[in-house]
Amino acid sequence: KTFADLGVSQELCDACESLGFKAPTDIQAEAIPPALTGRDIIGIAQTGSGKTAAFSLPILQTLWENPQPFFALMLAPTRELADQIAKQVAALGAPIGVRTAVIVGGMDMMSQSIALSKRPHIIVATPGRLMDHLENTKGFSLKALKYLVLDEADRLLDLDFGPIIDKLLKIIPKERNTFLFSATLSTKVEKLKRASLNKPVQVKV
Ligand code: AMP
Repeated sequence: KTFADLGVSQELCDACESLGFKAPTDIQAEAIPPALTGRDIIGIAQTGSGKTAAFSLPILQTLWENPQPFFALMLAPTRELADQIAKQVAALGAPIGVRTAVIVGGMDMMSQSIALSKRPHIIVATPGRLMDHLENTKGFSLKALKYLVLDEADRLLDLDFGPIIDKLLKIIPKERNTFLFSATLSTKVEKLKRASLNKPVQVKV
């Protein structure tokens, strides 16, 4: 199978090729088609499986059809993972002119506020700092959010980000799609799945 067989648009197939992605990985082959038809996804997959492109390509494709600021929020447990995700999203989204911002702890708030004022399409963030900006940065809101990604959900919960995520789920639109990825399906992850996803398709590699 090719990315085109999965329903990925030509521009994004070209982006995959330019990154050296010759064929979809298993998680991509399973997650991308239902994601493109508007389903929520729970993916049980490890780092290295190609999960980042699995959740990014459907978001980029929908974004390209109707570009809007603050379109997607991708939450990751650590700064390092957020940086990796943002790099891959920027590379895949370059042909469609995607604007991304990385909002993580331990970095300067002011320069992040400036990045948010440029109205990025996709925000890759750690939960605490994201909430800090929602509460303190003028003009920044997630009222128009179309996609939420919870990456490495088991680690997000192990790092006690659960309460912040619960708070976030109360303030973002209910009319959105959610993609949750986790290496394991613990009781805590199951609970977050019920709180955040709507009739999800479960994919596992
Ligand atoms: P991830 O599991 O998302 O952290 O991805 C692991 C690595 O695999 C990253 O360096 C990606 O650039 C790479 N990758 C993702 N999808 C593919 C693919 N279809 N073919 C080859 N490499 C890929």
